[in-house]
Amino acid sequence: MPIYEYKCSDCKENFEVLTSSSASDKDIECSKCGSRKVKKTISASSFRISSGRSSIPAGALSGCSSKSGFS
Ligand SMILES: [Zn+2]
Repeated sequence: MPIYEYKCSDCKENFEVLTSSSASDKDIECSKCGSRKVKKTISASSFRISSGRSSIPAGALSGCSSKSGFS
């Protein structure tokens, strides 16, 4: 099942929910305060990948850190 990340509008809690495709956002409650004022954000896994790529300097991709540190 896909994991979605939600953010609570009331307490600003970020939490992840395992949800089936038939579930709607209205069924999601904040894991902290129980509010249903939650907003679905991008799924946690893909968010980490995209943010990681954008934070890596272009120069870091050309070098191989594992090779240089092996000897
Ligand atoms: Zn909350």
